[in-house]
Amino acid sequence: MVDNFKHKGKRNQLVELLRDKGIVDDRVLAAIGKVPRHLFLDSSFEDHAYQNKAFPIGAEQTISHPYTVAYQSQLLDIQPGDKVLEIGTGSGYQTAVLLEMGAKVFTIERQKELFDVTKVLLSKMRYNPSYIGFGDGYKGLSMYGPFDKIIVTAGAPFIPNPLLKQLKVHGTLIIPIGVKEQEMTTIFRVSETEFEKLEFGSFKFVPMLEDKN
Ligand code: SAH
Repeated sequence: MVDNFKHKGKRNQLVELLRDKGIVDDRVLAAIGKVPRHLFLDSSFEDHAYQNKAFPIGAEQTISHPYTVAYQSQLLDIQPGDKVLEIGTGSGYQTAVLLEMGAKVFTIERQKELFDVTKVLLSKMRYNPSYIGFGDGYKGLSMYGPFDKIIVTAGAPFIPNPLLKQLKVHGTLIIPIGVKEQEMTTIFRVSETEFEKLEFGSFKFVPMLEDKN
């Protein structure tokens, strides 16, 4: 698991690219500047790991574009100590970025194959989520809720009710909603009963799966 000056140089270039593309949260940029993205990918992608691209990670899934990871992290306005539920652990890259930002991360993944690999990888890299599990994001993680922030990293056809229930008052859920394309959407919990929805433009995610098949 080598992370050398070449990787660091490319990472700095990626940070500058994200800054140019409008990411302004220095804590997000600092985290992207630290997490060795190439170690979350198959070694055949090593040379390309710091491009703003998605890559296959197995089980027909992809690691998100760095811009998407940065954009979602910025919208979540992560504060150190925030309890964050992540739906779709995937490669673990977004998990690592959230951990670098000082969040307590609870993360679940629907594909057993990815869950098994990523759990080991994160621990080898000394990234320690508060919880990492094989489970269904549509149900959330009620045993560990409520959460300050919830991030969904797959395209959801609708907003799963359990996620709204597991959000603290004054907490934020970020969820890309849509089937072919997704509208980046945040839901802010104003009170026990009121939620405020904002939209932030179109993105492309792999689908949030409803049934395991
Ligand atoms: N954050 C990841 C993104 C991976 S893509 C990364 O940076 O690598 C989205 C992930 O969501 C995939 O791994 C997919 O298997 C997972 N996923 C899809 N539907 C899900 C569900 N219902 N519950 C949990 N995870 C799900």
